[in-house]
Amino acid sequence: MTTVPIKEKAETKVFIVEDDPTIHMHLEFMLKNKGYLVVGSAANSNDAIESIRVTNPDLILMDVSIEGELDGIDTALIIKEEFGKPVVFITSFFDENTIARAKIATPYGYLIKPVSPKDLYIAIDICLYNHSMETQLKENEEWFYTSLGSISDGIITIDKDEKIKFINQSAEKLLGHTNSMIGEFLNTVYNPIREKVDAVDMSTEYLFLNQQKDNIYLPQKDGTKVFLEETVRPIQENRTGNTLGKIIVFKDISKRLYLEHKIVIRLRYEIGVSNFSKVLLSPFTNLETLNTSFRDLLSFLNMTRVSYSNISEIGYETYFSVNEETVANDTIPLSIGYPDDFKLYLQDSVDILRSNNLLFGNLNSFPEQLRTTISFRGIKSFILIPIFYQHSLDGFVFFEDTMQVRDWPEEDLQIFRIIGDLISTFIERTRNENLIKNHRDYLEKLVEEKTSELQNTVKLAQAANIAKSEFLANMSHELRTPLNSIIGFSKLIRLPEEFNKEQEFLGYINSAGNHLLKLVNDILDISKMESGKMLIVKANFQLYDSLLNSILIMMPQATKKNMKILQPEKLDIQFYGDEKRIRQVFINFLSNAIKFTGENGLIEIILKNTGDYVEISFRDTGVGISIEHQKFIFDKFYQVGQIMYSENEGTGLGLSISKHIVETHGGLILLDSEPGKGSTFTIRLPLKV
Ligand code: ADP
Repeated sequence: MTTVPIKEKAETKVFIVEDDPTIHMHLEFMLKNKGYLVVGSAANSNDAIESIRVTNPDLILMDVSIEGELDGIDTALIIKEEFGKPVVFITSFFDENTIARAKIATPYGYLIKPVSPKDLYIAIDICLYNHSMETQLKENEEWFYTSLGSISDGIITIDKDEKIKFINQSAEKLLGHTNSMIGEFLNTVYNPIREKVDAVDMSTEYLFLNQQKDNIYLPQKDGTKVFLEETVRPIQENRTGNTLGKIIVFKDISKRLYLEHKIVIRLRYEIGVSNFSKVLLSPFTNLETLNTSFRDLLSFLNMTRVSYSNISEIGYETYFSVNEETVANDTIPLSIGYPDDFKLYLQDSVDILRSNNLLFGNLNSFPEQLRTTISFRGIKSFILIPIFYQHSLDGFVFFEDTMQVRDWPEEDLQIFRIIGDLISTFIERTRNENLIKNHRDYLEKLVEEKTSELQNTVKLAQAANIAKSEFLANMSHELRTPLNSIIGFSKLIRLPEEFNKEQEFLGYINSAGNHLLKLVNDILDISKMESGKMLIVKANFQLYDSLLNSILIMMPQATKKNMKILQPEKLDIQFYGDEKRIRQVFINFLSNAIKFTGENGLIEIILKNTGDYVEISFRDTGVGISIEHQKFIFDKFYQVGQIMYSENEGTGLGLSISKHIVETHGGLILLDSEPGKGSTFTIRLPLKV
């Protein structure tokens, strides 16, 4: 806001219009005396106006009755019009008529001749002050109205009688009026329609919480609505608080409302799709949850029905379908299906769908072909989304809207494309899962079959094994009796000396018989072992005695090979077990040690008692066993290479029988051997069983 400072006297330029030279001189004298600058003077109207234009005074002293056509008042009116300069009238007298005329010129003061210096100075001061105030007020007013005029909001002020006092340009534009409305009643120009509507409160996270709000709009000639936001405030007098009128401020918010509405719809869509995708991508989704979530999706999208049809099946047989309307009032049951024109339309459009394009339309742009379907199903808008399985068209999802005519903007299409992708993924996954399930079922069945086959085979094998063991047991038994006779008699028979050769043959018979008997005995043991019939009769016995006894039995064979046997030191070990079987084990290890050690070799037997168990080691200086053979020597019939050190061939059964016997006593066999250096077999038997 600008202010006009009242000028200092020295700078104040005064112009005198006076035709009386004496008064003129007197006035000039008084002015100069007070320090005013007299910039010019004139005796008539014309001269005055010309000079004022040039001299640009701050104030004019004007004699009311001057020479010429125009008197002082007329001249003052021109000056006011043209220059806006303040005028102080000077006259000898003021009759009522003159005063009335002078008023029109809005003078700033009147002086009655003769003018005293005091009156003159006061008149000038008041004149300058008033003029400066007036100028300021005018400027402020101009500034104010220019501001109001340039505001984009519509502004109307009305007085107490609701008559318009001011209306800005924006208001005029919004109301579509061009002629001035000042003085008109408000409701003749501004009378918007007010209605209560459901609204979404964008400020809360509860997007779907409906609220009531006032909608204010101006109906337009073309049938559209201009929505307004309006504030009405009273205008009150500062001093008294009396209401002078009202100010109404309003603006067009149609665009904002439209955008808000669009955002809400978009959000609804997106929430709907995100819920839907959660269900579709969940591994626990079944057809029932899927149908529910389709129903939810419909309400989020403001759609009426949705159906999925499989294109590869006979025609377009429905795979699953949800129909909200059907659910609600059963007006159009899905079983009615689609009229023939729908099928024809699809046949024609299948290539469009195949190239992953959507088919959509609304009441104003329906495909000609679909006329029957559209009216039959009461559709206002529809969209068809292709569904793919393993990259080829599998079917389509058909969304129908019986409520609104949609214009299908790209953002909406995008949403439906996403829905299509989700359904495609779901179908792909569900089918793959079914395939996997079928495979798994098939494999499970196969495994079951094979297992039962195998079990049968095992049963048969076990039965055969038992039969074999029984057979061997019987056979061995049958063989032993004649063998014992052969061995016994071959030993007893003494031929005369000349039958040397025959006596030698008898020796062969005897040793072959012995070998055979050992084999038969071993086989008998093995078969008993396998059929679980090896009898173990436990009793307390002295382990050392048993060991010594075994050494004594084997001594002749060792002596034959000129071998030395280092005997264990005597220990008192009371052992609870089958003495006969334990001795069998000792003899087996001793005979192996003798068998696999060369002439003059050394065999050492060590006996140890730890308290918890007893250890009997048979250490020889024989051929030894390589690591790879050590793994197998306890297997039945396993023998390492050629047996070179034995007169009698072994059976390959001794170690497996020994192992079985030791294990049935809760013990184990340890082996430490190096080829070429010898072997140590250690039997560890627990004492406290
Ligand atoms: P057999 O002695 O009747 O052949 P075994 O079951 O008692 O049957 O022994 C299996 C094989 O283990 C033997 O053939 C032999 O190769 C090896 N073996 C056993 N004891 C010794 C040993 N003390 N030294 C070297 N090799 C041995």
